[in-house]
Amino acid sequence: MPSKTLRQKVLSQAKLIVIKIGSDVLAKTDSPGARHNRRVIRELAQSIAKLHQRGVKVVLVSSGAIGRGLAQLERASRPKKIEQLQAAAAIGQPHLMRLYEAALAKHGLKVGQILLTRSDFENRTRYLNTRRTIDALHKMRAVPIINENDSVAVEEIRFGENDILAALVGNLLRANLLIFLSSVDGLLKDGRVVEVVEKVDEEIYCLDQGRRSRSGAGGMSSKLQAAALVTDAGDAAIIVNGKLPHIVDRLLQGEELGTLFIPAGKRVNAHRRWIGAAAKTAGTLSVDSGAAQAILESRKSLLAIGITSVRGNFRASQVVEVLGPDGQTIGKGRVNYSSAQIRKIKGLKSSRLKELLGEGVREEVIHADHLALKHN
Ligand code: GLU
Repeated sequence: MPSKTLRQKVLSQAKLIVIKIGSDVLAKTDSPGARHNRRVIRELAQSIAKLHQRGVKVVLVSSGAIGRGLAQLERASRPKKIEQLQAAAAIGQPHLMRLYEAALAKHGLKVGQILLTRSDFENRTRYLNTRRTIDALHKMRAVPIINENDSVAVEEIRFGENDILAALVGNLLRANLLIFLSSVDGLLKDGRVVEVVEKVDEEIYCLDQGRRSRSGAGGMSSKLQAAALVTDAGDAAIIVNGKLPHIVDRLLQGEELGTLFIPAGKRVNAHRRWIGAAAKTAGTLSVDSGAAQAILESRKSLLAIGITSVRGNFRASQVVEVLGPDGQTIGKGRVNYSSAQIRKIKGLKSSRLKELLGEGVREEVIHADHLALKHN
């Protein structure tokens, strides 16, 4: 399909869009403590209002708390110490929200702030609560504005420039499209923007120069990982230069800007998305080649007979990683048995499960519906 038609299809079918805006785009210049770019915020608010009028729901994932905090503190350089960055975020976040609040109020829209950390995605109850809150905000004509809760997240698990956070939010909501408003024109190949990416594979990762954006912690590599998360779940993503005038309007009018990442397969259901993209794994199960083939090619459940080894201590209903005979990850799944039980039944035929574990046992160690394959 020609790239223009593809774009039109993706854009016209989008009912829920996540827009991620980077710190660089929000700042007036490249300096870490730069003032904010009023035009960018004003135009973004206008575009969000237009989308609302068309019945398209929007969630904004905005960075820029640290940048706004540094500007408030009149600091021209970015501190190195994590607690200073966290304090800057604490100062900058309310300022950032006031900017959005004022810009969106002109269009009769309210804003609702949600600050998340990685553990909010890993914990299924909190994950589902976040989704319910976002739904309720949309019903109240409020624009959910999400950022990482920088002031409490520890360095090792920070999302940084929010690219992965935005992809996880997109997955949480099953958003049809994720727009990355970035400081680059798109993914480049030989100095030119790649118009369409059909699959985020090794070749695509190799195009990334590994450059990081100046004031934030992102870069093309985290955007590509984020685009892979979204497209593997069956949705689309666009990386585009967020500083271009009226960028969201122009994209929605079909102008061919930035790089479009088209869905890599069928849309994945909500539960599988959580298992595949968000849930933390509590252990691993290695399987033999027969089981790997049954899972990957015939989308079968994982049975005890195909399991060769168990690593870690986990409870029934936790999520584990499933490895093939070559040690490569096949996917992630929610187990029906604890690690202790699986150690007893691994390699055995399903008929022997009853004997060892008692009546009412389930045949599958991981049901196919609870198995998120690495490549959809
Ligand atoms: N969540 C951060 C912010 O809002 C990301 C950017 C950074 O690490 O500088 O400022």
